[in-house]
Formats: sequence, structure tokens, C-alpha cells
Amino acid sequence: MAFASHNSKNGLHASRLDRPLSVNSMKSLASSPTALTPTSTRPKSAAPGSSSVQRRNGTGAQKSGKDDSGVSGRVRVAVRLRPRNAEELAADADFADCVELLPELKRLKLRKNNWDCETYQFDEVLTETASQKRVYEVVAKPVVESVLEGYNGTVMAYGQTGTGKTFTLGRLGEEDCADRGIMVRAMEDILADISPEHDTLTVSYLQLYMETVQDLLAPERDNIAIVEDPKTGDVSLPGTTLVELKDQKSFLELLQTGEANRFASNTKLNTESSRSHALLLVNVKRSAKNKQEKDFVIHNENGNSVHVSKGHRVPTIRKSKLLIVDLAGSERVDKSGSEGHQLEEAKAINLSLTSLGKCINALAENSPHVPTRDSKLTRLLRDSFGGTARTSLIITIGPSPRHRGETSSTILFGQRAMKVENMVKLKEEFDYKSLCRRLEAELDKLIADNERQAQAIFDGEEDMERKLEEAGTRVAEAESKVAAALEVISKEKQRQQKELVEMMQNLQIERAHRERLELELRENVQDLQDKKKKQIYAENEKHQKEIRDILEQHQQEIKDVQTRLANECGQRERLEKELHEANICLQQSKEILEPENIHKEELSDLKQMLEKECELRQQAERELDAFKREEKKLTNGITEKNDIGEIWVLKKRLEQELLEREKLEDEIKSLKQQLLQVHVDAEEEAILQRSRTIGKGSSARSSGGSNSTISLHTPSNMKDTINGQRATIAKLFEQVGLQKILSLLESEDVDVRVHAVKVVANLAAEEVNQEKIVEAGGLGSLLTLLQSSEDETIRRVAAGAIANLAMNETNQELIMAQGGIGLLARTADDAEDPQTLRMVAGAIANLCGNDKLQIKLREEGGIRALLGMVRSRHADVLAQVARGIANFAKCESRGAAQGYRTGRSLLIEDGALPWIVANANNEASSIRRHIELALCHLAQHEVNAKDVVSGGALWELIRISRECSREDIRSLAQRTLNASPTFQAELRRLHVTY
Ligand code: ADP
Ligand code: MG
Repeated sequence: MAFASHNSKNGLHASRLDRPLSVNSMKSLASSPTALTPTSTRPKSAAPGSSSVQRRNGTGAQKSGKDDSGVSGRVRVAVRLRPRNAEELAADADFADCVELLPELKRLKLRKNNWDCETYQFDEVLTETASQKRVYEVVAKPVVESVLEGYNGTVMAYGQTGTGKTFTLGRLGEEDCADRGIMVRAMEDILADISPEHDTLTVSYLQLYMETVQDLLAPERDNIAIVEDPKTGDVSLPGTTLVELKDQKSFLELLQTGEANRFASNTKLNTESSRSHALLLVNVKRSAKNKQEKDFVIHNENGNSVHVSKGHRVPTIRKSKLLIVDLAGSERVDKSGSEGHQLEEAKAINLSLTSLGKCINALAENSPHVPTRDSKLTRLLRDSFGGTARTSLIITIGPSPRHRGETSSTILFGQRAMKVENMVKLKEEFDYKSLCRRLEAELDKLIADNERQAQAIFDGEEDMERKLEEAGTRVAEAESKVAAALEVISKEKQRQQKELVEMMQNLQIERAHRERLELELRENVQDLQDKKKKQIYAENEKHQKEIRDILEQHQQEIKDVQTRLANECGQRERLEKELHEANICLQQSKEILEPENIHKEELSDLKQMLEKECELRQQAERELDAFKREEKKLTNGITEKNDIGEIWVLKKRLEQELLEREKLEDEIKSLKQQLLQVHVDAEEEAILQRSRTIGKGSSARSSGGSNSTISLHTPSNMKDTINGQRATIAKLFEQVGLQKILSLLESEDVDVRVHAVKVVANLAAEEVNQEKIVEAGGLGSLLTLLQSSEDETIRRVAAGAIANLAMNETNQELIMAQGGIGLLARTADDAEDPQTLRMVAGAIANLCGNDKLQIKLREEGGIRALLGMVRSRHADVLAQVARGIANFAKCESRGAAQGYRTGRSLLIEDGALPWIVANANNEASSIRRHIELALCHLAQHEVNAKDVVSGGALWELIRISRECSREDIRSLAQRTLNASPTFQAELRRLHVTY
């Protein structure tokens, strides 16, 4: 018997058939050397829209035969031959079977007749003795395993009614467990493999009859719609009952229920199981966790994208379906019409099976159009043929030659089905829900963590803020402290800088000062040296000049002295001559007249000259002493200056001077002796005259204007002499004439003027002459002399003459009227000569005794002039001053007593009191007596009492009242003290008992 050419006609050729369904399958199929490998494959693309598809290389795995992932997606077809049943055994006992199986070669021989047969290659050839277990393992188990791995799987039985489809698939094996069919065994394997905790197993049991889907588990659902996913093309039956299975028992019950419902339904519909298709749909949902190696994006069913990060365990779920289809008898396709079935039923059965056949043919022939949608069966089997499922078809045949045609068409169906190439795909998808739940859980956890962290951050922030505030406060405090410290430092710095600057300035000033001082020092040293040199030189020069000047002066003075001496000598000689002549005349006059007065006059002059000479000598001695001192000084100075030569010369000159002076002194001495002789002679003459004029003089004195007027104090011996002279002069006056004498006062010759004034003075001493002199204008001439003359002698004598004239009250008024007070005051201020001052003081003292003239006297400065003369300290001068004060005080006292005088003493007002107090107890009685009298007069009047007390005169008054030698003054003081309330009060205050 040759191999059927059918295979070659369909592009098939006999070859080893690798079973890629499973390892087990491969093992079982490996022993089949006759397995056919389809020559043409129909590449299938993944269903559009299917997600997470794991493609399998359908061709590569076939070659190696080692790929257990089911590389080949070709529909696997096994053929099973039913043993002869009792009828066939009886009826066909004489006939051989129409088929011959070559299971080792997986070939089947179909006898056409006694001499012809056709050989077909199948994936598995199961003989009539093949056990149910073996059929399961060969046909269904690879599919079941594939379903458990996540692939869809289909196990379908095709064959003539009564050939054992239901026997093969649906036998429960209740009586004999070896009879258990594919459904039961498949479920056993599935239940054994899945995890009840993680996996889900649900089962639906349906029947398709007359293009109507009926739920065998809920027979009332007899028109269940088939729903196709427009994207994936997956078919689902949403209306069916899904029974979740946990164990085998419940499955068996489910099958029984389904069979019972199918039987009841068929009975009701007046049909039988062979006219309907039974479909057991097993849904296996298994979770699988895979760790992703990298980030990727997945798209869910709604088209939204989900980003899955690397390293995240993405839950996946595998939803696979196992479809076990027990088809209606295939004979119906051919016999539906001929056997008188109702048209509709026949159409329906025919439609489904015919459509299935057409689809198989189309798929087998790689036809571009597969009429899947022509019937519900093909729609339900869309994934099983030409889809993604792993499909195993078992065709059942009977041995009877009577059904040879049916058997042949079944075999052909199987042969065509073997050409159908499926593209198995792993039904794995992401478990969005699980992922979502897990992500939500993680999200919740993250949210909770986030909340806690936020709270912690919030707490931390609060804590931080509080700490920041504290830190800020501390920083502020520190900053303020730092600022204060900085301020202090700054102030201190400024102060120090200021001090530094000041110190620097002071230093600079000091330095400059020091430099300046050094410079000045140097300059001073230099200057000093220069000056010292110059000074020494100048002093030297000066000393030399002084010495020269002094020497010259000295020489000049010596010359003068010599000249004077010569003059004196000449004069002396002349006088001697005159004396001689006078003597002669005297002798002659003794005989004739009384010519001695002239000589007396001359003698008086000579005496005055002698006195003058004595004064000059004394002056020369003083100057000599001064020269000596000067010499000594110069000697010292010059010695230091080593100018001994000059000194030596000076010494020599001085020695000469001394010699000359001694000579002069000798001359003066001899002159004095001569003069003494003359004086003795004159004395003798004076004694003579005094004896004659004594009576006259006393009468003149007593007849003075005022009894209280105190006359000039003149030494008694000289007074006598003067009186003598006056007498002589009176004679001369009578002989020469007053007018002539007064005219001599205006002579150009000084000597004449001197002599003339002396004569006038002598005349004025006599009261009798005074009126004549005044009448002749002598007072005016004397005042003019006092004013104009520069000669001291003239001024002195003139003042004396005025003083004498001032003894007369009338003359006093004349003197005042002719401005005599002013002249006397000026002379008192200017003169230094004590005798001149004595005369002036005497004149003023006389004027002070005139009551009428007191005011004018004071106004013209008489009292001030009087007091000014105390500077002289000469006793005669002071005595006249005291007399003047006493006269003035007595006049004031009289005026006050008589009531025409009021007010404080003008003496006190002119400041006389201090002098009065100071001299009230002067040792000179002539001064003291006048002052005591003056003080008593002042104190007599209460207006002066306060001044007396404050000026310290009270004590003097007390002393006067106790000690005064003159009783009248003493008693006057006592009366005064007792009479004055002021003095009494003061004495009481001082607790002085009087
Ligand atoms: P079909 O479902 O194809 O119409 P069945 O399964 O109902 O056929 O089988 C018809 C009869 O044949 C049944 O009585 C069954 O027991 C019997 N039968 C079928 N196949 C076998 C087999 N391989 N061994 C023994 N008996 C079988
Ligand atoms: Mg059946």
C-alpha cells in the first residue's frame, strides 16, 4: 500500500513530526517517525490591540524540537478509532474494517476497496485499544499544560455520531476511573497545578444548537450573546454562568448538571446530543510576578499610559482559557438534507459545521478570507483555529465499512485541520487592579508617611522658628552688646586717637619748641657771647668814658673850685683890702661917724661865702667818696677785664686829684682861718650893734599883726649877728635910698642881685621898713625874683624877705592879691634846698594865720603846698609846716567859735590829719608843740570828731591831755575830750576811762 498522495497534493510531505506542545508531548511524539511536518506555514500576526504579548517563534522551535514553549502553533490532530460495538460485531462480522492504523508511523490507511487504500499521516493515531489516559496525555495534556502556562487552548472532538467523541471528552469515569475522559482529567491536572489562594478557576458549560447558545448550568439562559472585543477580537459570553471551581468533585457535579440539563433540553426540544455542540469553557486566571529590568510604559485598556519604574515588581496576570468542544456529529453535514431533518435544524447544524469546514479549509489553504463570522461556532472557535490558542483536534472514527464515507470525510477534515497554523500567544497582561491596589496601598502609606513627615517638618519648623527666634534674640542681644562694645571701643579709639593726635601735636610743638629753644639757646649763647663780649667791651668803653668823663668833670670841678677859690681868694683879698680900708674907715669914722655897719655887712657876706665854701668842700668830699667807690667798682670791673693800664692811669689821676684836693683843702683851711678872723672881728661889731638895736627889735616883734603869729625860728647867735647886720643895712638903706636898692634887684649882674636881695631881706625883717618896702614896690620885685630867678640864693633870700613881709596883715593881703600864694606853692613844689623850703614854709605859715585869707589860701593850693614840703624831712622845714598848720587850725577854730565857719576842717579835707597824727609826738619840740596845738583846735569841733577818731588822733589827744608840757595846751585837750560826745562815746566803747 502506497502512501496517499493527498499529502503531497496539499504541500505536505512525510517527515518527522516534532511536537512542540510540551515536553511530554514531544517525548510521546518523538517515537513517531512518521509524523508529518507541514511544508507551508501561515504566518500570523498578533491580534491587533493585544497587550503584553509574548511572541513565540513558531519556526525556529520546530527545527530544534526542544522548545517547550510551543513554537509551532499548528493545530495538532490525532485520530482515534472506536472499537467495534456489538452491532458492528454482529453486522460487520464478515467485513474487514475500512481503516487500518499504523500507530507507530502515525499513519492511517483507509481502504477504498479490497485493493485500494489511502494512507494519512496524523499527529497521533490512537487505536481502538488506546486507553483514555493515553488519549488524554497525547491529545489534551499538552494543551492543558499550555493553558496552565498562560496560553489559550482548545481540545475539540470531531467525528461521526457514535464514534466516541463524548466518550473521549466527557466520560466521567464514575464506574471505572480508567474511563475518565479528557474533561475530567484536564480538570484534575488544572486543579492540581493552580493555587487556590492566588489563582482563579471558573467554568462555563454551554450548548450550541440551532445557532443558539444555551447555558447548560442555567438552562433558562438559552440565548446567550457572543461578544467580541472590537480591539482584541477576543470572544466572550457575558451571559453565561461562571462557576468557580475549587475541587474535582464540584467539577464532576457541574458536568453532571450540565449533562442532565443537556439531556432535558434535548428532550424538550425533541433533539439529541449529537445534534448540538457542547462547549466546556475553563477560565484559568493566574498571577505572575516579574521584576522589571528597566523603566517602561504600559498602556491600559482605556489607552491611558502608566509609567512603571525600573526595579518595580509589576504584577501580571495570565488569563488563559481552555475550550473543550464536543461537536455535533459530522455526519449531519452530509446527511442533513437526505435524512429529512427539518430544514432549519439542518441548516443550523450544517451552517456551523460547514462554516467550520470552510474556515479550516481557508486556513489550511492560507486563504486571505476566513469566514469566521458565518456561524456562531466559528465565531466561538475563532481563537482556536487561526487564532492564538494551542489547539488539539481529535477526530473519531468507527471501523465499520458501512460508514466509510463519513470516516473518509472526517479524516479529510482532520487532514485539513492539521494545516491550520495558529500563533500561540501568552495571555498575560498587567494586573492593573492589583498594581493599582498595591500602588494605592503604597500611596496611602506614602501619604501617611508624608503626613507624618510633614508634621515632623512642621514641628521641626516650629522648633526651628522658635530656635531661630531665640537665636535671633540672642544674636540681637549679642549685636547690641557688640554695637555697644564697638561704640565704647570706637569712642575709646577716637579718644585715644585724639589723645594721640594731641600728643603728636604736643610732641611736634614740644619738638618745635625744643628745636626753637635749642636754636634760641644757641643763638642766645651766641648772642650772649657776643653781647657779653660787646657788653664787656661796651662796659669797658663806658667805664673808660665814665672815668674820662668823671675825670674831666672832676678836673672841671677842680678847675671850677680852683677858679672859685681864686675868685674867693681874689674876693678875700678884695675883702681884706676892703676890710683894711674899712678898718681905716672905721678908725676914721670912730673919729667922725659910725662906719662899722658896712664892714659888718661885708663880714656877713664873707661868712656866707665861707659857709658856701664849706658846703662846696663837703660836696667835693662826697663826690670824692663817690669817685672812690666808682674807682673801686671800676677797679674791680677793669681788673676783670684786664684793663689795668687804664686803671693805673686813672689811679694816677685820682692821686693827683687827691693831692689837688688836699691842696685846695689846705687853701680852704687857711681861708677859713682868715674868715674866722674876719668873723671874730664881725662878732665884735655885731655885739656892738645888738646892744643898740635890741630895744627896737623887741618892740617890732611885739607889735606884729597877730599876737599868736609865730616868728621864724632863727639861731640866737645868728639872730644877733643878723640883727647887727640889719642895723648896718638900715644905715645903708638910709644913705643909699630904698628905691636904689630895689632897682639893684633887677640888675643884670647876679652878684649885685644877690647882694641887693639880701639887703632888702634884711630891711624887710624890720617892721618899720616893711611898709616902705611895700609902698616902693618891693613886694612885687621880690615876687618877680621868686618867680623868675634861677639862682637858689636869690630865691631863698627873696622867699625869706616875703616871709618877713608876710608878718603884716596888710602885706598878707597884698601878697595874696599879687598871686603870691601860687608863686610860693610852685617854689615849694620845685625847690630842694631846705633853707629855701624853710623860707617858703614860713611865708605860707604866716599867711595861714590870717582869718580872712583862709579860703583863698586853701583854694590856691597853699595847704597842699605846705603839706607837700614835709618831704624835705628837714627839722626847720617841718617846724614851719607845723606852725602853718597850727595857725590855720587856730583860725578855723576861731571862725567856728564866732559862728562864721561851719563844716569839716579844710586841713582834714586836704589830708593833713595823717601827718598830724604821725608827728603829734615828734621829738622836736618846735614841731610837736605846733602839732599838739593844731590837733586840739581840730578836735574842739564836733564836725571833725569822727575824722579825729577814725584817723587815730584820739589817742594823741588823750596823750596830749596827759603828757603835754604846756599846761594851756594840756588843759585845752582835756576840755576838748570832755566836751565831745563822739570822743566820750568812743572812749566808752573802748572801755577807756578818762
Ligand atoms: P458519539 O458521541 O460520537 O455519538 P458515543 O460516545 O456516544 O459516540 O459512543 C457511542 C457508543 O460507543 C457508546 O455506547 C460508547 O460506549 C461506545 N464507545 C464509543 N467509543 C468507544 C471505545 N473506544 N471503546 C468502547 N466503547 C466505545
Ligand atoms: Mg456524543
